[in-house]
Amino acid sequence: MSQFQFANRLATLPPYLFAEIDRVKNEVKKSGIDIISLGIGDPDIPTPDFIVEKLYEAAKKPENHQYPSYVGLLSFRQGVADWYKRRFNVDLDPENEVVSLIGSKEGIAHFPFAFINPGDLALVATPNYPVYGVAVGFAGGEVEYTSLTAENNFLPDLDSISDESWEKAVMLFINYPNNPTAACASLDCYKKLVQKAKDTNTILVSDAAYTEMYYDPADKPISIFEVPGAKDVAIEFHSLSKTYNMTGWRIGMAVGNASLVKGLGKIKENVDSGIFQAVQEAGLVALEKGDPYAEEFRGIYKERRDICVSALQKMGIECMVPKATFYVWCKTPTGYTSAEFVTKVLRETGVVVTPGNGFGGPGEGYFRIALTVEKDRIEEAVSRLAKL
Ligand SMILES: *Cc1c(COP(=O)(O)O)cnc(C)c1O
Repeated sequence: MSQFQFANRLATLPPYLFAEIDRVKNEVKKSGIDIISLGIGDPDIPTPDFIVEKLYEAAKKPENHQYPSYVGLLSFRQGVADWYKRRFNVDLDPENEVVSLIGSKEGIAHFPFAFINPGDLALVATPNYPVYGVAVGFAGGEVEYTSLTAENNFLPDLDSISDESWEKAVMLFINYPNNPTAACASLDCYKKLVQKAKDTNTILVSDAAYTEMYYDPADKPISIFEVPGAKDVAIEFHSLSKTYNMTGWRIGMAVGNASLVKGLGKIKENVDSGIFQAVQEAGLVALEKGDPYAEEFRGIYKERRDICVSALQKMGIECMVPKATFYVWCKTPTGYTSAEFVTKVLRETGVVVTPGNGFGGPGEGYFRIALTVEKDRIEEAVSRLAKL
């Protein structure tokens, strides 16, 4: 069998930091220890029945068996616009300011192809969802990472980016509520970002996948488009994945500046042929009728969060009490790197958590807990940690 050489762009991929942890996990599993995985950000609760029922019904319609429209059904895009209006009081034109996506990851990964030329610079706030930097690299661009630190509440420090970089940068990637730190952006933070983006002609790429996963109505996360004029410079990626437990369905959306939406649409038109229309019909009912379910899920995560955070605090592990997302971002105890601590926890307790450095350099010294198992398993996991 011939061994084919990968293209150079694959060599630009960052090393896979979880390889060693995966190896230890398999070893621990083999030794018969009951593994509790708090590693992956994938909801464990099923998709609500009414959404699944809608899929059954829509899957039976022959007109849904043909190629969908690449920009998405107008009814779905209208549903997205209506949801943005209801939830954020943001007006969107469904024809020109909304594109449906095969999950927001797909859209994020394709977006740089529309706006980055080889050698162009993109700024990425880090620790971060790895797709931003990978996608820019695939498009031939360069990435400058800007650190999110506890001192700044994990919000971007605009002054830490040089004038030269602001001048050069084509786009800046931000993600609030943030994976992995759980930080939320205030209106003031978004205002400053929009102003800076306008002053320096930089595209703002906002990844807002977690806005519905909050704990207190007083802390309801916002959209960047709540800033007047944000549409001049921004595109926002959103998704049904986390809100309605639909990660497997692959449906999301990008909204905002019409030329940014159009550019992304042009790439997609040449790469994929849209989302199965039955999934879009089901996605539409999720947006229309899913609010009470999202509320129920928030209650479930809140219970888990409170159990987890209070146990961590009791054992002296410093952590942010998340106001949104299902992540708890914790400091590794003194004397351990992220990888050392996570490996120790795994070996000695069978609990899987994610080392912070896997999300970028500034994540070193932290680990991430995902609240994606039932509360008695969270209780079991933290009681094992307490015995360490
Ligand atoms: C889960 C997640 C997404 C959503 O991905 P989909 O492709 O829509 O399932 C986007 N951004 C971040 C930061 C995430 O954690």
